[in-house]
Amino acid sequence: MQGKWRENLIKIKPYVAGEQSNDKDMIKLNANENPYPPSPQVKKVFEKYAQNSDGLKKYPNSDSIILKDAIAQRYNVNRNNVFVGNGSDDVIALSFMAFFNSDKPILYPDITYSFYPVWCSLIKIPYKTIPVDENFEIHAEDYYTENGGIIIPNPNAPTSICKPLDFVIDIVEHNPDSVVIIDEAYVDFGGESAVELTKKYENLLVTQTFSKSRSLAGMRIGFAIGSEELIATLETVKNSYNSYVMDSIALEVGTASVNDEEYFKECVNKVIATRERVRDELIALGFDVKKSATNFLFATHKEYSAKEIFEYLKTKKIFIRYFNVPRIDNYLRISIGRDEEMDKMIAAMKEFF
Ligand code: PMP
Repeated sequence: MQGKWRENLIKIKPYVAGEQSNDKDMIKLNANENPYPPSPQVKKVFEKYAQNSDGLKKYPNSDSIILKDAIAQRYNVNRNNVFVGNGSDDVIALSFMAFFNSDKPILYPDITYSFYPVWCSLIKIPYKTIPVDENFEIHAEDYYTENGGIIIPNPNAPTSICKPLDFVIDIVEHNPDSVVIIDEAYVDFGGESAVELTKKYENLLVTQTFSKSRSLAGMRIGFAIGSEELIATLETVKNSYNSYVMDSIALEVGTASVNDEEYFKECVNKVIATRERVRDELIALGFDVKKSATNFLFATHKEYSAKEIFEYLKTKKIFIRYFNVPRIDNYLRISIGRDEEMDKMIAAMKEFF
């Protein structure tokens, strides 16, 4: 049947997190996941539900109080300064809807997390990318221009570069009319968190995730910290989209994870130690590797192209991330796995070169 409805179907390029592999034998170093399991306290939550799942017949507490309180305590803020969601992608998506409602474009770096443009297209908000310099550095003064909001990951992805807090202050102070979002997905691996600054700057929102430093990518838990006004606005948007409520198990798992600070530190420190060792080894192999404040390394080789290294490693069942994207198409992003996994990757590279 003919009809004009096809003209009204949304036409966007969906978000794709690079090439995927379902091969269980692959050493997976392509998605910045944590190689260590979640806290043992998380396992206890699942054991509890395995014994008695009666609680699941009830709807989750839509206020997500237990998790908010645990996060508030850990980050030294009040419950009303915390928003939680199903992964930080959800939190960021809701933030765009809540705060970026001007005709002016929102700003973010040209080399950054590729979810931002997709979400802008989906909810139809204008955006403008601000070029990073030839060393992939972001400069605060480039953000002094008129805008409808700003989002910057710190540390940035996939470059792994972290900016000091002065940079955040600079951007926020020059943009009193905009909400500024700092996406701190990787901050626990060596970045400087702007959470404390949200107490002073009411237009600053910081987002974080449990997917990386807390080994819970599969659970989908993320959060934002900001002024009461920003958080209350986010809650209003969330309550208008019922599907954004977190499930009961995720709330308990997140709480158990936040409360196990010792295990968290242990895992993060192991990842950092491996990262620094592997960085040195890659440099010795002829790579130029950015100083990383994340759980991945951003590297380019002096002789071999990123694509050929990526393809070769795949034949050795090692899966890293290659970007078929202008400016970074000769760079690789290598997530930090366990020591033995990284050793296999280094050995495969040595064979290749
Ligand atoms: N921000 C950045 C910069 C990321 O790289 C990611 C993970 N791909 C996210 C946010 C989203 O993470 P999650 O939804 O798993 O919390």
